[in-house]
Amino acid sequence: MQAYCLKCRTKREMKNVRSITMKNERPAVQGVCSVCGTKMYRIGKKGDRAVGAVTKAVSKSWLANVPEDKVFWCHDGRVMKNLEELSAGLQEMVEETFRYHVTEQRNDFSKWVRDVIGDYELSTELQNTGAKEQAAKLVADRIAWLKGGD
Ligand SMILES: [Zn+2]
Repeated sequence: MQAYCLKCRTKREMKNVRSITMKNERPAVQGVCSVCGTKMYRIGKKGDRAVGAVTKAVSKSWLANVPEDKVFWCHDGRVMKNLEELSAGLQEMVEETFRYHVTEQRNDFSKWVRDVIGDYELSTELQNTGAKEQAAKLVADRIAWLKGGD
């Protein structure tokens, strides 16, 4: 997919493409310029099928299992390999386990969702969440949204 690179001042192929949602709920894709590495965006306009297709494909991919070496090893021995297992895990784990992964300094769930799953929005929401029940609900809501219609 191509987008305009502000640094090269021309259209460039975009790599590391991921989908985002703008504050005004508009779908968009973000990536980096394949030539200079500068961050670039392409914002979906009405009828922009390219953005819509990438957005949908990327979003659906967040529900998939992560590679075996990227699974989340929970402190209570649970192994989670996708968002649904994270959702169930958060619901079932004891507070102590949650506190092991979520401290003032770090939030392992948020980090995993960002670095491995690739869902930056959910990661940010989790980052701002200090309560287990709320985190579980955020993940469950996100799954429902991802599974939702077109
Ligand atoms: Zn560039």
